[in-house]
Amino acid sequence: MGLRKLLTTHIDHPESHTLRQYLSVGGYESSKKALNEMSAEQIIGDVKTSGLRGRGGAGFPTGNKWSFIPKTDKPKYLICNGDEGEPGTYKDRLLLEKLPHMLIEGMVIAAKAIDCHQGYIYIRGEFMKGIAIVEKAVDEAYSQGLLGKNIQGSGYDFDLTVYSGAGAYICGEESALINSLEGRRGHPRLKPPFPAVSGLYSCPTVVNNVETFCNVPHIIRMTGDEYKKIGTEKSPGTRMFAVSGHVKNRGIYEVEMGTPLKELIFEICGGIQGDKQLKAVIPGGSSSPILNAEEAMTATLDYESIASLKSMLGSGAVIILSEEADLVETTYRLAEFYSHESCGQCTPCREGTHWVKDILHKIRDGHGQQKDVDLLFSIARNMEGGTTICPLADACVMAVRPTMQKFKDEFAKRLVTEPHAVNEQKEVVNVT
Ligand code: SF4
Repeated sequence: MGLRKLLTTHIDHPESHTLRQYLSVGGYESSKKALNEMSAEQIIGDVKTSGLRGRGGAGFPTGNKWSFIPKTDKPKYLICNGDEGEPGTYKDRLLLEKLPHMLIEGMVIAAKAIDCHQGYIYIRGEFMKGIAIVEKAVDEAYSQGLLGKNIQGSGYDFDLTVYSGAGAYICGEESALINSLEGRRGHPRLKPPFPAVSGLYSCPTVVNNVETFCNVPHIIRMTGDEYKKIGTEKSPGTRMFAVSGHVKNRGIYEVEMGTPLKELIFEICGGIQGDKQLKAVIPGGSSSPILNAEEAMTATLDYESIASLKSMLGSGAVIILSEEADLVETTYRLAEFYSHESCGQCTPCREGTHWVKDILHKIRDGHGQQKDVDLLFSIARNMEGGTTICPLADACVMAVRPTMQKFKDEFAKRLVTEPHAVNEQKEVVNVT
């Protein structure tokens, strides 16, 4: 366990993003093998055996997702979700900028697996550097017969297009991303039908995350059986973690699944800034419920361990908060983010996220009362549990309520206990 380079073995090379460097370390050998020697069933079988799970948030088994694509005459589409917008998350940006050919190779293999001939890489609009690098990499791959017609002499055709998003967080939700790609407003769609049945242009579509595709060439190279030996039984492989907050060495680390969170914080990242005490950890991006220090010390970085603590490994963003962190301020900022990013289609989300933000604003500024906390919890109950089209409303609740429950003393200290205290404070201000 601990640091383990699988995707990032050659990432420190200054030319890691170029085709020449990627080819020099065995790049595109896996796609050659998959296109020339393997059937679609064998590719899916290997990916299923590997146990690879989606690295974008939900952790759905990748091989299963591919096998849901119906074998019809309709065109099938493959989409890479590079719309990384979850607060604290920046690991896909690194892969896009440093290892674009690994992503392209993974998509070529996935295309063969689902009988797809057109793919898209949808990249967050703010990632201008990454967009330019990936576009150049796609051009390089076309020029060397690694994309387009008769790839690597296999007779298989696959075209790949880079598409830039326009900066909406909600376009990271796959059906909103598909709408955006079709030129519509980036609104999540009602499901079912799921994209595997009716996605882009109403055709079967697979959407996978950048890191997920980057794992695929390694699975084909080493076989699913060998890949499965890395990590834990139910969470095989490595995982990229973007660590931010109050640690000494913030950054992106690739670690073997099952590595203790404690090791990531205190050994790999050098411990807490100023040698302060750890207060809390947000383990998988802002939508994942917070862990207190005690929980964080027992957790390991795999899907099951974090789920057993009623949180999620999510988007791979680990946010470390020291004893000096103001959790009321942190929670308010997160609620502000979700209220800003709600697309407005569903009433519980459109109204609820704004109410939650406004109540937290009141508490943060010292004007909140216990009845406001009760109101917030009541609103939260109406926002969760499938009352909305997509999980953004649930994400807002998960970012707020567990923090208010686990750190209730910190919130209680900010509440006004006397019913007229707010007015009295205002009067004092006016007098002075
Ligand atoms: Fe839009 Fe929120 Fe409804 Fe999702 S839950 S579709 S973001 S209004």
